[in-house]
Amino acid sequence: MPGRDPVAPLRAWLAEHAQYLRNPLPAGAGICMTCRGPAGSSFLRCIPCDKHFRAAPDSMADVVAPISYAHAHEQHMHDLRTYKWRTPPEISRSRLLSLLVVFLADHGRCLVEAAGGTAPSAAAVVPSTKGRPGLHPLRTLIGDRLGLPWLPLAPGARPDGQSRTFQRDRFGLNDRAREWVEGRTVLLIDDTWTTGSRIQSASHTLKAAGAAKVVAVVLGRRVNPVWDEWRPILQKVRDEPFRMDDCPFHIR
Ligand SMILES: [Zn+2]
Ligand SMILES: [Zn+2]
Repeated sequence: MPGRDPVAPLRAWLAEHAQYLRNPLPAGAGICMTCRGPAGSSFLRCIPCDKHFRAAPDSMADVVAPISYAHAHEQHMHDLRTYKWRTPPEISRSRLLSLLVVFLADHGRCLVEAAGGTAPSAAAVVPSTKGRPGLHPLRTLIGDRLGLPWLPLAPGARPDGQSRTFQRDRFGLNDRAREWVEGRTVLLIDDTWTTGSRIQSASHTLKAAGAAKVVAVVLGRRVNPVWDEWRPILQKVRDEPFRMDDCPFHIR
């Protein structure tokens, strides 16, 4: 049917139920160009993103798109924690899945353009390094809705769940996947960005295997409200209604 928009009902549902979300601020003027967290006013990146960039400039994700800030004590962060419970609240799962599906439908093209790549032909979630058995809850949540094959990214030989630093060997890919990923654009998805070290370590694994581009999408950019640097950001976004039409690469 011409003009039919398959995600319209989800978008409408989110518009009504997800006003606790906060659009990330545009890069620049104290906002990190990678993660949209606080950066010094004369710096392009925050300290962790700058460290990752210096450690492996060619391995970083080509674009990072946090969909919303996630204040440590508010609803979005609550959803990002509870959807991983053994018996997760259905409402948390619904909200996160709707948000991701609508965001990718509306802004997937913006991200690919910003990355300068072709449309993704594979997807991956950043694996858990906490030894949780079975599929990652994010992969279970998304299922086959993206219409892309999932790459079997896995914890590396020396997984270190606690470390918040970039590690080249934190994750691995089997030989078959390494061969297959060559030249492809990969959509890399994670639930929460805190320092970004896990996502960037995963991006390194994909690029070291030959991926042409890595487009990273995170559901929530964690905000630590007790950290002074976040205060100006929180003040700016606190009363702003969430705009589904915006993404970090496509601002009204
Ligand atoms: Zn950053
Ligand atoms: Zn966009």
